[in-house]
Amino acid sequence: MSSRAKAFLSVDENGNCACDLQLVSPDATAEDLLQALADFAAENMADCRGCPGCCQERAPLIAADIPALATLLPDAGRWPAHAVCRAFARVSVEGNGAADIILRRRENNSCCFLDEAEGICREWPARPFVCRSHFCLPRSPRLQELRSRLINQGEDELLRLLMAEEAAGAPPLLERPLAELLDAADYPPTGQSGCLRYAEILLRSCVDDVLWAELLR
Ligand code: SF4
Ligand code: SF4
Repeated sequence: MSSRAKAFLSVDENGNCACDLQLVSPDATAEDLLQALADFAAENMADCRGCPGCCQERAPLIAADIPALATLLPDAGRWPAHAVCRAFARVSVEGNGAADIILRRRENNSCCFLDEAEGICREWPARPFVCRSHFCLPRSPRLQELRSRLINQGEDELLRLLMAEEAAGAPPLLERPLAELLDAADYPPTGQSGCLRYAEILLRSCVDDVLWAELLR
């Protein structure tokens, strides 16, 4: 149980239920957020181990997902972000420079980790942040906004990490080094820079004053 964040059921003026989040410490991290959501799910939700319901949707990866996913490889080597993305992700850069890194999917759109016969996630303990922070209940606006920012920043951080690995000698994932395909100026440091674990991501560093005040309210 996290003492720095709590998730609870909220009901709006129209009677709609949602999962809400309140931070109770300025030191709350992404790990505290995930723990609060896990506690909430254990108390309020049916046991979920993945299912075809949402395991067919785009699942973006963030830099802090890499250590857990790397444990699925026999040897992630010197370039763990490259090893993980090569094994499990689809990295793409559009002509306009927009980049995306998502868990690889099969032709029928199911996630590469979904056991389709059993309808469960084969790699539940290593699943990424986007899956850990999702379940079958709407999110309150402040939780939704926080989750979106963490995912968007974290995906940018993963791109920065991949570019750093390539600058240090990792063989490019795409036909050319990412630094040649992307404008590094579009990926400035974020509040997650240098954070390779959920517990290292300080939520205060990832949000503006308005959302921060909302999360403490
Ligand atoms: S959260 Fe997703 S995986 Fe879990 S039960 Fe709901 S639809 Fe299935
Ligand atoms: S990692 Fe697991 S929980 Fe996440 S989309 Fe894939 S099968 Fe579903």
